Amino acid sequence: MTHLEKAVELQKNGYHCSQAIVGAFANELGYNLKDCFKISTCFGAGMREGGTCGCITASFMVLGMAFGFYDPQDKELELYGNKKAEEFLALFKERMAGDITCKAILGQDISKPEGLAVIRKEGLMLKLCPRAMRVCIAIVEEMIDDYHKRKNDFSHQNTAEEAIDLTSIINQADKRRKFTGNVTKLLDSTDKKVAFVQFDIKRFKIINDLYGEKFGDEVLFFISENLKSLCGDRQYFMNLRADVFSIVTEYETDSELDDLITRLEQNFVEFKEVKLQLSFGVYTVEDREMEIRQMEDRAAIARKAAKAEVVTNRLFYQEQFKELLYTRKFIEENMNAAIDEKQFQMYLQPKYSISRNKIVGAEALVRWIHPQRGMVYPGEFIPIFEENGFIRKVDYYIWEEACHFLKRCADLGIRDCPVSVNVSRQHLKDMDFMQVLVANIRESRIDKSLLELEITETANDEKISKMAEQLKKDGFTLLMDDFGSGYSSLNVLLETPFDVLKLDKKFMDNMMASEKGKLILEHVVAMAKKLELGLLAEGVETKEQVELLSKIGCDRVQGYYYAKPMPQEEFFEMLCKDRGVLEKNMQK
Ligand code: C2E
Ligand code: CA
Ligand code: CA
Repeated sequence: MTHLEKAVELQKNGYHCSQAIVGAFANELGYNLKDCFKISTCFGAGMREGGTCGCITASFMVLGMAFGFYDPQDKELELYGNKKAEEFLALFKERMAGDITCKAILGQDISKPEGLAVIRKEGLMLKLCPRAMRVCIAIVEEMIDDYHKRKNDFSHQNTAEEAIDLTSIINQADKRRKFTGNVTKLLDSTDKKVAFVQFDIKRFKIINDLYGEKFGDEVLFFISENLKSLCGDRQYFMNLRADVFSIVTEYETDSELDDLITRLEQNFVEFKEVKLQLSFGVYTVEDREMEIRQMEDRAAIARKAAKAEVVTNRLFYQEQFKELLYTRKFIEENMNAAIDEKQFQMYLQPKYSISRNKIVGAEALVRWIHPQRGMVYPGEFIPIFEENGFIRKVDYYIWEEACHFLKRCADLGIRDCPVSVNVSRQHLKDMDFMQVLVANIRESRIDKSLLELEITETANDEKISKMAEQLKKDGFTLLMDDFGSGYSSLNVLLETPFDVLKLDKKFMDNMMASEKGKLILEHVVAMAKKLELGLLAEGVETKEQVELLSKIGCDRVQGYYYAKPMPQEEFFEMLCKDRGVLEKNMQK
């Protein structure tokens, strides 16, 4: 039976196209049919998301498993950035004359499960899909053939260069079977404890970009070769995919395990003078009945959590990591739709003058109102957006909203309530954001001084000073956010022309806890005055805080004591009342 015949038969038996394709290659992949279905169900659902055709996702998986860049054990896929996958997609596009989505192929939108059911019932998938399936299977067959041919050719030559090439395309399935077999034996036979230690190289992509992929391959080859001698008798290792390595070891004491990691770290500090930084995730086996793939997953989860750490590069698996990873996945999968569907909203938190008991401004804070999940707070998604760069889009949106809001106020004659927006450090990477700011101001025809910019204090940074100077020249007001939370506040004061210091909540809480602290606070306020800097205390929650701040001469505050961040409509009404603007006007 050919692959295509197998796939058509599976489809006739009710399996969808991605299951049919992965299933058709079950033998080559070394998986049984049931596992193939499981694997393709997880990821072949792309079609139901309304996007990529299931044949495509399935083919990526088959190629990935055959060439070792996709490891079904690892839920974090990197299919789309892969060269083979790109090659595949280009060929598919060409042979399908551009029809690459389910809708284009089937002529119907099947983005919802009901749609898919209709298509199945009417047999449309069988009638129309074989075109896509045929093309997909043909390309996969060609690519795998080509790979085997290259492998055979290689056995007749033998240059060092190609030895490296070979290691990167060695048949993963065989290796995995052997590795899993060894690990199972170890788990069954040892009386000692067992741990899964997984590591990868931080910013490996950058190493590839900077020094070329060949160099990247050499690094991996170097690690693999060294692991052979570093691993003892009852320690097994495997290069799971790309730069991810797994070592399973028996051990008796925690320090033994610690020593192993330290040894690995020391051996892989650098390669040809290029520094390597490793992140380690460790899962210590508690339940030996658990599937190996699940143990591997847990080590992977810990490794990913370790990547985000600053103080350490090794973490042990904890249950709550899983939750974090799911949240992260949810956020990354939904962020684009959230922008398109305007799920991000600008909330405003008033700033008050204590002595006048009046609103003197507001800070714009983003909220994500997800149709199913409800309110998602910035604490959950901002750090992820900062990492993946998406924060720029969100900031741009909030700046635009803030300008619209200011325009609306100005139209009512309220021109004394500036709104401050947060400027993520991500923007410092290029200076595009300045043009965006200027364009926003121009379009809404508001006074520049009304849109204030909050920038977080950081270690002395030349770039931030330059940028700040430019912004000042352009006429913007700069607020130093979270003053007191970092370590070099005073340096930054010297270097950067800020207009206002926003005292960080934690800093204030700390200071107010003791007499000495209060004294420091008092002097900070005095210093700000001497330097002719504005001052605003944030996170003010109690009457005592308000009284103390007022006493030492800090008149501006923002915090729950006065008001929490609220939808812009609510703030608008509040502001109109505060300013005594007539209700009639408010309706405008
Ligand atoms: P931030 O800029 O320091 O904002 C102040 C945070 O303190 C806000 O949290 C605010 O709701 C909270 N807060 C205000 N008063 C009180 C109080 O009395 N008590 C307590 N416990 N908290 C108070 P939020 O809105 O959750 O935002 C968290 C952080 O996320 C912000 O810290 C900011 O760094 C970031 N962020 C929020 N919106 C944006 C945005 O549009 N762009 C960027 N780049 N970052 C944003
Ligand atoms: Ca802020
Ligand atoms: Ca702050």
